[in-house]
Parts: sequence; structure tokens; C-alpha cells
Amino acid sequence: MTRYIFVAGGVMSGIGKGVATASIGKILQSMGFKVTASKIDPYVNVDAGTMNPIEHGEVFVTDDGTESDQDLGNYERFLDENLSTDNYITTGRVYQAVINRERNLGYNGKCVEVVPDIPNEVIFRIKKAAKKTEADFILIEIGGTVGEYQNMLFLEAARMMKLKDPKRVFFILVSYLPVPSIIGEMKTKPTQYAVRTLNTAGIQPDMILARSAVALDEPRKQKISVFCNISKNDIISAPDIESIYEVPLNFQKDDLGKRILKKFGIKPKRKSDLRDWAKMVNIAKTAKEPVKIGIVGKYFETGKFVLKDSYISVIEAIKHSCWACNRKPEIHWINAEQYEKNPKKVIELKKYDGIIVPGGFGSRGVGGKIKAIQFCRENNIPFFGLCYGLQMAVIEFARNVCKIKDANSVEISLNCKSPIIDVMPDQKALLKEKKYGATMRLGVYDCKIKPKTKSFQAYGLLNISERHRHRYELNNAFRGVLEEHGMIMAGVNTERDLVEIIELKNHPFFVATQFHPELKSRPLNPHPLFKAFVKACIKK
Ligand code: GLN
Repeated sequence: MTRYIFVAGGVMSGIGKGVATASIGKILQSMGFKVTASKIDPYVNVDAGTMNPIEHGEVFVTDDGTESDQDLGNYERFLDENLSTDNYITTGRVYQAVINRERNLGYNGKCVEVVPDIPNEVIFRIKKAAKKTEADFILIEIGGTVGEYQNMLFLEAARMMKLKDPKRVFFILVSYLPVPSIIGEMKTKPTQYAVRTLNTAGIQPDMILARSAVALDEPRKQKISVFCNISKNDIISAPDIESIYEVPLNFQKDDLGKRILKKFGIKPKRKSDLRDWAKMVNIAKTAKEPVKIGIVGKYFETGKFVLKDSYISVIEAIKHSCWACNRKPEIHWINAEQYEKNPKKVIELKKYDGIIVPGGFGSRGVGGKIKAIQFCRENNIPFFGLCYGLQMAVIEFARNVCKIKDANSVEISLNCKSPIIDVMPDQKALLKEKKYGATMRLGVYDCKIKPKTKSFQAYGLLNISERHRHRYELNNAFRGVLEEHGMIMAGVNTERDLVEIIELKNHPFFVATQFHPELKSRPLNPHPLFKAFVKACIKK
């Protein structure tokens, strides 16, 4: 008997709908229920894989290789569950499926219409995800904001589900209450409009999460209750807080879990237990001694604003490991391009305890990343390379240690003489045909770890599997020369003989992975390599 909880946003985007969704899931899970969560993205793109990180934020990759929205990362981290392609719905995916079915006579000659055939496909997908995981509850986050043209058909799907089975469908509106500085008072009007807009879609929210800089007070609660036609008890205060992981604990202060179960008319399977979670949050809030980590990247800037969304899983993975060591993560954003204009500036990296070069695409900023890596290598600064970070570390080592001056990646220089980072033949064929969508090396692949390496020390395992998202690989023709000069191929995918991890000897920590370890880090179960890196940073 699955129950369906829809979460939509009102007033504006970026108010933490994803974290709210994940937190509600966490609470229900803590009461003994099996929970899963799906994200609906209203854009026409089939998935997030072809979008620019500045445009979209991080592309989160699941075990099965789905290039999805970063909110799936939030769900996985909060629920400690692996999600799949079924948990990700986009307008592109829905229309693609309907059109393909129509082409195959799947509608038996009927006229296929936007309503109800598109919402029906959405409902089919929601139910499929719930069934696959045998979930007691599925949370479905509808992207965008109510009132947008783009997500109307998804609201329509929610309405149709509720009409059919009112006792099993619940609707939550995450709204925003501004406190304009000139007035100094929290305003409820935008929320009133959001609810009215939702009403025109035939939906009355069962609960409102009131996001704001501060907690909701009694007069505002009263106002929302009267004007939005909702009981005061079903308006949950959701003020800004220090750590996103505190959100479930905060919601529980307003008895959110009990309220939802009461509405469904069911009892918890056990008393909610979030003790370990609360312990972790407590460390997050109280740890004092900082670990200063610099991230040398490029997807930060939009106009006058600095955006960290592109590296969200990296940030979270750093936090998890720092907290596990009772330390306060202090993350610094370093724009790689500045070291191209001013290479001497790289000396500033000395002030950090460790440096991460994360994933990336294209040639912008690579010169700066290579400079930064060289500096870490030569000055014993803990270095952790992720995907493109590995590729850059290999190029740096080839150029400066092996003296292969023209070493490069074919992604940067198509006809370079020493393609240390090359493209596999199957990938070459795809590129030739401009087949860019969902064609990289994606999802989990096995990796065999070499004993006596830092990676083995970290994992304590010889066989691991990690998530990938890249097109290029370390070129095996150069493995010999790299090894002769001291680079260790610490992890290899034996099936295709591809290098997955490199390390350097005689360095406090110089490890880089072709995969993305950050995608599998969880708050109560930090990723072993991130933990080893953070420990090396602390030691420094
Ligand atoms: N651009 C590189 C590749 O495609 C690395 C990708 C990444 O960092 N995710 O192989």
C-alpha cells in the first residue's frame, strides 16, 4: 500500500525544496517505513547530462548511470539508499516515451492527447518507482514553482492521482516568506498567491512548509491558516539553519512526521529514532578546529554571483569526512584561470591543508589546474583529483616528471602528439555521430585495488565499485613510462583494463580517481578516500 507525497514549491526557486523533500523522507524512514523519492524536472531535456554546470548545477549520477538532478543526491544522502533511473522524470523523458509508444501503435489507433496521456505517463512512472522499491511512501518533488507553465502537467498528474485515491495522496507546498529589510516584517501575501495558484490547478495543499530567514510567529501562522484555508497545525515553520542536515530535526520539532501519518490515518512502525543523525548534526554545529580545503575549479561564476551548485556532492563529501574527524570543514573556492594569467600566484595554495581538483570539461582553466597540481606535488600538499582532476594530474606528471612536453588530453588538443589522455574507439564513434546524450562512461564499474597503496589503506578492500561520468581515459600506451617514473596505478578496471586510481609515492597524499567518489559519500558513512584525504589534511 504505497502512499504518495507530492512536494511543490511556491513563490520562488532555490528555497530548499529538495532538502525539504529528503528530510520528510528521512523522518518517515526513521519511523520504520520504507521510503523512496523521485524528482520531476520540468525541462524538455531528456536528462541533465547535456547541460552546462553553470546552467544546471551538478549532474548527479546514480549507480545505473542516470545523469540526473542534484536533488537525487540529496535524497540518496538523507535516505542512505541508492536510487535509479525510475526516480527521475523530465518533460523530455515523458514526451519521448509517449511519442515512441504512439509510433509503435501502443495507443491502438486512439488520438493521443496532452491530457490525459501525458499525466498518465507521469503517474505510470511514479508508480513504477514506488513498486520497484516496494516503498511505503514515495515522495515526488515537482521542480520549478507553482504558476509556471512548465510544470502544469505534473500538477495535473498529482491532481488526477488524488482524485482517484484521496486517502493515499498528500500534497505539500514549500513556500517562501520574505522579510523585506525596509519593512522588517515577515510577509505572507506571496504565499497566499501561491496557494491560490495551486487552487486553480485543482489542488489544495494538505501542509505548508514555511521557508523563511526566521521562524514563523503566531500572527503569521494565523494569517496563512485563514487565507490559505489550512489548519494551523499543518503549517510547519522552516527557518534558515546552519546545516541542511538539521532540517529533519527541525521539522520534527513541529511534529511533522506525526502530522503526516495522522492525515493518512496510519501509525508509525516504530518510534522515530534520529539519534545518530542528531549526533552528526551536533558535530556539524559545534566542531571548531578547521580543515582548510581549496577547490580549484571553474564553474562558479554567474554575473556578479558565485555559485557552488556545480560541486555540491564534492562539498557534501568533504563535510561528511570532516565531521567524522570532529573538524569544521572550511572550503575555499579557487578559480583555476587566475593561475594561467599569473602562475606565481599558485604559491598561495600553501595556506590550505589540502587541495581538490574536481571534475570538469573542456579546455578553459586546465592550465591553471595543472599549475596547482604541480605545486601540490612539489610541495607535499595533500592533493585529491576527481575525474578531470586525475586526467590533469597525469598530464602534469607526464610533462614535468617524465619530460613528455607535449603530453595532453585529446579533449583539449585533438591531434596532440602524446595523447596521455585518450578517447576509446567506441567513444570516438559516438562523438563522430554527435551522439552526446547519455553516452559517456556512466554509472558503476568495478575496480581492483593494488595492495599496500593509500587507496587500499583507505578502503580496506581489494575490490570496489564506483560511479563514473567521463568520456576520456588514461592511455595505456603511456602506462609504462608513467610507472617507471614512480606513478602507481593503484586501481584498475580489469574488464576493460582501464586505470581508475593513480597515486604517488613519497608524498603525504597524492591520489586521484577516474571515478567520482563524492557521489557515494553519505553523512553517516563518509567516503573512505575523502576520509583518508581529510586525515592527511589534518596531519599537515
Ligand atoms: N572531461 C573529462 C572526460 O570527459 C572528465 C569528465 C569529468 O570530470 N567528469 O573524460
